[in-house]
Amino acid sequence: MKLFDLILKFDISLQDMKNYKIIIVGSGIAGMAAAIRLKSVGYNVEIFEANSYAGGKLTAFKSNDYRFDMGPSLFTMPNLIEDLFEITNKPIENYFTYKRKSIICNYFYEDGTKFSAPADIREFAKKASNTFDVEEKTILNYLYKCQKKYDLTSSLFLENSLHKISTYLSKDTLKALLNLTKLDINKNLSDYNSTIFRDPRLVQFYNRFATYNGSSPYHTPGIMSMIPSLEQSFGTYFPEGGMHQITKSLEKLAKDIGIQFHFNTKVDEIITKRSKVLGIMTGKSFIQSDIVISNADIVPTYTKLLPKEKAPKKILSQERSSSALIFYWGITKTFPDLDLHNIFFSADYKNEFKRIFQDQLISDDPTVYINISSKEESTDAPEGCENWFTMVNAPTNNGQDWDAIIIKTRTNIIKKLSRVLKVDLNQLINFEYVLDPRDIEKNTQSYQGSLYGAASNSKFSAFLRHPNFSSSISNLYFCGGSVHPGGGIPLCLWSGKITADIIHKNSKL
Ligand code: FAD
Repeated sequence: MKLFDLILKFDISLQDMKNYKIIIVGSGIAGMAAAIRLKSVGYNVEIFEANSYAGGKLTAFKSNDYRFDMGPSLFTMPNLIEDLFEITNKPIENYFTYKRKSIICNYFYEDGTKFSAPADIREFAKKASNTFDVEEKTILNYLYKCQKKYDLTSSLFLENSLHKISTYLSKDTLKALLNLTKLDINKNLSDYNSTIFRDPRLVQFYNRFATYNGSSPYHTPGIMSMIPSLEQSFGTYFPEGGMHQITKSLEKLAKDIGIQFHFNTKVDEIITKRSKVLGIMTGKSFIQSDIVISNADIVPTYTKLLPKEKAPKKILSQERSSSALIFYWGITKTFPDLDLHNIFFSADYKNEFKRIFQDQLISDDPTVYINISSKEESTDAPEGCENWFTMVNAPTNNGQDWDAIIIKTRTNIIKKLSRVLKVDLNQLINFEYVLDPRDIEKNTQSYQGSLYGAASNSKFSAFLRHPNFSSSISNLYFCGGSVHPGGGIPLCLWSGKITADIIHKNSKL
């Protein structure tokens, strides 16, 4: 083909794409990422959002002079956000700035041990060996091995579709398969950590990372040990202005490049005919579209938006990841011992996860996570005060008596924190707002209020997540925490990318 013909072909296909209309159901982080990517290569993209605001779980609120990030509080892999500004040729510094944290998290154990985890790997290993019964080299070897697991599998499990034959034909996949024994998929995370560390406090420390995707360390496979090494080597960050800045900056970027948002517009159905997408229904209006991407949770996507289509029962019946019970507290005191991220461990970690995943309840001694953004942004709380996002892992909403659970858990948390911090916490709370799994389900339409879609409590979980495309309905796609590759901000950003890449590739066929 001559150069002129090539240019002409490229020009025509760009023209076609501009007329190609894509509707995205939901403005979660994955939906916005997919929208920005598709718009940047020429598609006409519109987002329909049930709420009056963008971001889904990644939102915030202000009350009584306190500002709280409502959902995610831990920010890793900022390169995935940077990418979205790069591909749109917009200067990120005009939208989004962030800083790296030198302390990752402060840990408090029931036996009185305190450990402030440095971000620097060598400093971390040294400090850990001074605090726990462990040699520096054991920690460094562990992190090195975990990093290898990520290097071997990220291309297969995170960055590409698991459901396209091309992924399996790649060199990276072959390498991962040849190194299968190094991935520790046949042991659970806790058993794996127990083979490396003799100090139970360190096993608990590294078991905690199972909660990053809402799973149990006693069931999720040992390959999840890659998470702490990612946190340690990629670092943890704080967006200036708080986590909500991620949503605000992506919403602004999306609008600046011409993506239209329709807020307060719940999609009632995705309309299909002869196994092909035709558009959506919102209220009584039909809106035509060439492609529809659902960023809504995959369970209601099938049960509510596609009631006439055959649902993939096995995928939809996967165990859900955990949910959360959060107390947003205004605290009339500052705590120099606390930092942005703080963990107060339970004495019996195993029981805690049994209570969540088996009994569908919250243990009487739950691990408590406190995020205090006013440590970084002083305007997030009045002078002399702090904004505490106080969270415990919780089961998903299966109709439990949440009002009773909230009262009991609140008492247990206040007792625990008062004891460890040597204060009367009850006296220090001058603002309170509570969010439970019912609210998370209502606010974001996530099935049963789970935070990360399906749990990763089995070695087959990754393969049982829904693909980013429909194999029975043409021009129907999916992105977000409940489909491949999973939940959490980085994975959702990858999900948006994988979906956008598949659409773009298909449209060029
Ligand atoms: P969602 O955020 O689930 O949003 C989906 C959107 O779709 C919503 O806005 C919803 O209103 C809309 N929608 C649904 N149905 C319809 C419909 N029919 N019509 C129109 N709109 C519809 N991740 C981290 O990385 N770090 C953390 O520290 C962290 N902590 C968390 C703490 C909490 C309390 C919560 C709730 C989550 C946390 N997460 C964390 C997980 C992270 O927030 C999610 O994985 C991610 O934000 C999910 O994004 P998503 O794209 O799947 O969309």
